[in-house]
Amino acid sequence: MTYDPNNIFAKILRGEIPCQKVYEDDHVLAFNDIAPQAPVHILVIPKGAYKTVEDFGLNAGAGEIKAFYMAVAKIVEEQALNLDGFRTISNSGINGGQEVPHYHLHILGGKKLGPMLAKAA
Ligand code: AMP
Repeated sequence: MTYDPNNIFAKILRGEIPCQKVYEDDHVLAFNDIAPQAPVHILVIPKGAYKTVEDFGLNAGAGEIKAFYMAVAKIVEEQALNLDGFRTISNSGINGGQEVPHYHLHILGGKKLGPMLAKAA
């Protein structure tokens, strides 16, 4: 699967669609999720064109990967999420339920988040 340059996060990166920006540096953008699943729900994305976590891990440069996790740590501290805890999630592909094919990490917090996975019906 090739990277789709018309995915919604690519449009946000090009400034074609607005976002509620939380953090930005040369390699990383973070913004509030449009449909938050918790009091704090932030999406962290690399500026490079990576589809999934494994694409990012295999193909991003060391500087991009370092910048990504530094950004996550800064956001966690800025939002004081480290005090009570939080969760990060990365959905990948069909089984993971990934909706937007640009690698992103969800940061969720602000309340007790409950079980990691919804119980099967
Ligand atoms: P995923 O299912 O892991 O691909 O998550 C995609 C996330 O992107 C969902 O939580 C959506 O609510 C969120 N989302 C979709 N469009 C936007 C947007 N324009 N701005 C912010 N978040 C968005």
